[in-house]
Amino acid sequence: MITQNQDTNAHVGQYLSFPDHALLVTSIFSTIQGEGPFAGTPATFIRLAGCNRGRKIGMGCSFCDTNFKINEGTLMTFDYIERQVEKLASAPLLVITGGEPFLQKNVVGFLKRVLGAGLHGIKNIQIESNGDCGPEELLTLNQDINASKMGFTIVISPKAEKTFRPIHKNLKDMPSVFKFLISGDESSPYFNIPYDYLGTYNHLPKVYLSPLTAYNRPVSPGEIADAWTPGLINVEETRRNYKRAIKLCFEYNFQLSLQTHLFLGVE
Ligand code: SF4
Repeated sequence: MITQNQDTNAHVGQYLSFPDHALLVTSIFSTIQGEGPFAGTPATFIRLAGCNRGRKIGMGCSFCDTNFKINEGTLMTFDYIERQVEKLASAPLLVITGGEPFLQKNVVGFLKRVLGAGLHGIKNIQIESNGDCGPEELLTLNQDINASKMGFTIVISPKAEKTFRPIHKNLKDMPSVFKFLISGDESSPYFNIPYDYLGTYNHLPKVYLSPLTAYNRPVSPGEIADAWTPGLINVEETRRNYKRAIKLCFEYNFQLSLQTHLFLGVE
C-alpha cells in the first residue's frame, strides 16, 4: 500500500493555547462532495489541520491520501474563515473535515455560530470525524442544531489498525451516519464491518460502505488524484475492494458510497 502525506499524531493539547474564536486550517475550497450522504452536492470545504492518526502507518490509515499537516496549518479567526467562505461560489453544503476536526474544541463554537447566524446560502453542515475525539463542548450542540434551520450531520468513519476503538462517548447522541471503509484483503480489519460497533450507539444510524482506493504511486504535490490518470490507481486491488463492498451491501442492506471525486477529478 502506498502511504501519502504522512504527518505526526496530533493531540488535543496542541490546540488548547489558541484563542477561542480561531481554528487551525489547512485549506478552504469549493468542490463537489464526493462521498457519503451528500455525494454529488456542490460544497465548500474547510479542512482543519492535524489528525490524531496523522502518522497513518500503524494507525489504521495507511491508505489516507489527505494532506492536513499540523505544522503547515494556518491559525484563522472565525471572521476570517467566514470571509474566505463568502469569497467562494455559493454552495448549499458546508463540509468541515480534516485531519480530525474534533481535536479542536473551538470547532464547536464555530458550528454554533454558523447554525445560529447562517453563512452564505449554506443549508446543510456536514462534519467528518474518525470518532476518536469528542470535546465536552459538543454536549450542548444539540440545542443549537434543533433551533437552527440548517441540517447537521456528523459522518463518522472509524479507523482500525487491528481492532476498532469505541466511539467517543460525547458523539453518541449526535445526529450521525457511519461510513465504514471496506477492503477486499482478508487480513485487513476493513474486510468485515464492525457490526457490534453499531450496537454501542444510542440510535441506529444510517450506514454507508466505502471501498478503499489503492494507489500505485504517491500523488505528486499539487496533483489532484483522478481515476483517469494512467497508472495512478491500482486497478486490481481497487476492483477487489469494490467487489467486497458490493457483497457486504447486499449482505447487510447498507448503502454503497464511492469516492466519486476521483471520477470527477476534483479535490
Ligand atoms: S483518521 Fe482520517 S484524516 Fe486521519 S489519517 Fe486516518 S483517514 Fe486520514
